Amino acid sequence: MLFKNIRIIDSVTDRNTNLLIQKDSFYELTDNDIGNYKKYTKIIEKKGLALMPSFIDLHCHLREPGYTYKEDLYSGQQAALAGGFTTICCMANTKPVGDNPETIQYVRDKSNALDMCQVIPISAVTENLKTNKMVNFQEMIRFTRLFSNDGQPITDKKIMIDALLASSIYQFHLLTHCEPEVEMIDRDLQLLESYGGNLHICHISKRESVELIRTAKRKGLKLSCEVTPHHLFSYGLDYPVNPPFSKKQDREALWEGLLDGTIDIIATDHAPHSKEDKLKGATGLIGLEHAFSLVYTIFKERNINLQLLSKLMSETPAKLLNIPQVRFGQVPKANLVLVDLEKKYVIMEKDIISKSKNTPFLGQTVSGQVIMTIKNGITKYSRR
Ligand SMILES: [Zn+2]
Repeated sequence: MLFKNIRIIDSVTDRNTNLLIQKDSFYELTDNDIGNYKKYTKIIEKKGLALMPSFIDLHCHLREPGYTYKEDLYSGQQAALAGGFTTICCMANTKPVGDNPETIQYVRDKSNALDMCQVIPISAVTENLKTNKMVNFQEMIRFTRLFSNDGQPITDKKIMIDALLASSIYQFHLLTHCEPEVEMIDRDLQLLESYGGNLHICHISKRESVELIRTAKRKGLKLSCEVTPHHLFSYGLDYPVNPPFSKKQDREALWEGLLDGTIDIIATDHAPHSKEDKLKGATGLIGLEHAFSLVYTIFKERNINLQLLSKLMSETPAKLLNIPQVRFGQVPKANLVLVDLEKKYVIMEKDIISKSKNTPFLGQTVSGQVIMTIKNGITKYSRR
């Protein structure tokens, strides 16, 4: 496959080139070179298209095992690929809970067999997410380096201290769901300062959270945090999601945090629910398919460069996961997403690939659409 005069964007690049995908790599070609490849290669050339490193999601819910009426490993990965993601990390609040090697291995093995995305299962921190009994970290780190009780805040201070200490000893990332958000972030930052650890704070949504994390980072504390596409895109929506849509001034603070480096990554918190569960009050919304469009729409509105978007959705997540970062001209692993930056479309239920359709953004016009997702040189998704 040959992309002719294509715009390429990563965290430091934004220029036009000719790019040939061959096997699992890519090569840049001069206009003269193109002639040699013309005969036997599919050529793609269209105004408005751009190639970027494919996206990486540190936080999603794929619902398998146990809740496959909401989503499963196949439908969730289909949605991820349609959203331009090739690596996704799924939370442990399944049935059974991902607090044991068998469940984590099940998710891994089944995902490997499907051969769609790279799926990294996240282990629970405590057994069944709710008890005060820690999982066996020594055993679990053979399967994953990510631990989280997402959905259930770690309210017990002693447990949080032990989890932070374990994250240093066993070298894993501790992903926290803070609720009440500001109070718990404040507590956790103090604990981090006293005990150390590898802390990643999930889905921050409030001005005070941004300020606390900014101050902690300025003091030299090492931690990372994420924001969701929906909290960046909207505010004040009366739609059940946790954390809830915040006020306008909170949303603006999140933007300031993105621009000054306080916020490290964008993660979807893709949380599929059936219509019935939603009616019963289940919180959350689907995020994988619309993440890029929501983020790009607002980046465009605010005239923010797309290198930052690439950093937040690809480069820094890759660094956190310690997997190779795709850089044009440097690491030529063809994990790429082709996006149409001139496309505008309306989010419609009939187009949603995920098993669940829970999103407040139906009917919303957005800019920028994922056209193709390439993993290790193989086209895993192509928009019809
Ligand atoms: Zn959460």
